[in-house]
Amino acid sequence: MIYTGRFAPSPTGPLHFGSLLAALASFLDARHHKGKWLVRIEDIDTPRVVENANDWILQTLDAYGLQWDDTVVYQSQRLRLYEEHLHKLIHQQEAYACCCTRSELSVRNARHLYDGKCRETPPKTDASVAIRLRSSAVKSEFTDRIQGKQVLHQSRADDFVLKRRDGYFAYQLAVVIDDHDQHITHVVRGADLLQETFRQRDLQAHFNFQQLEYAHIPLATYTNGQKLSKQNLAPAISNNKVVENLCFALKCLGQNPPQELFQATRREIIDWAIKNWQIEQIPATCVLPNQQEA
Ligand code: GLU
Repeated sequence: MIYTGRFAPSPTGPLHFGSLLAALASFLDARHHKGKWLVRIEDIDTPRVVENANDWILQTLDAYGLQWDDTVVYQSQRLRLYEEHLHKLIHQQEAYACCCTRSELSVRNARHLYDGKCRETPPKTDASVAIRLRSSAVKSEFTDRIQGKQVLHQSRADDFVLKRRDGYFAYQLAVVIDDHDQHITHVVRGADLLQETFRQRDLQAHFNFQQLEYAHIPLATYTNGQKLSKQNLAPAISNNKVVENLCFALKCLGQNPPQELFQATRREIIDWAIKNWQIEQIPATCVLPNQQEA
């Protein structure tokens, strides 16, 4: 099977330096393996979507020489595919309706595992219900190419939400269906999604989909320990400092770019990085000078 990787940003704002690291790492890993690299815009959580953010993201990838294959896929155009798959699960009784509200849940259960109330006693109404996976996995493990062996052992199965009460499909459902439908073989993304991988693998097993290889790159933090994320208002990366930012990103990813690369062209930097890519060099943490103006 041909290596196929992907970058799957949510268009909730422009790319910041942390998202450049994820995009660059997944691009380089794919190209180093002579594989395909796809871009998928994860825009199903409509209330969080920021107008024009998808264009800014694609322009930035383009400016940094991260050229994707095929046409960009937009999740908002694939709702029927998600609905069909969800119905299959419901039909096979592997998913069920749940009418519990968020506040009821937090009263009953401070931890986030669903206590299974609607699994035992199905709701009497069809109106505004969520759909949950009927999971049986309490133990699970996989080996992440960067983070090593990951083990999950929980007190009960995690019946996580596949479709929300407000009618939106959950990220977990869409991501698993799309990765399968796009024949993705390798996922390289930020370590904020490491724990989500257990849920995604569980769902892949329910659908009988092939399992993927995962690599989670450490989240970038400033020297004061603060995480670099959109929530922390990390600055958008500039499309006018491409050479500098690419070299700095390679350094953060432990790739040791030679000094002369800092005077090279974008093309030369990308070519060098594809050829010399070593995923095992990625450090456990990626530290940036405070409030780096990328
Ligand atoms: N859309 C997700 C995000 O921007 C990433 C999904 C993924 O890579 O699986 O955080």
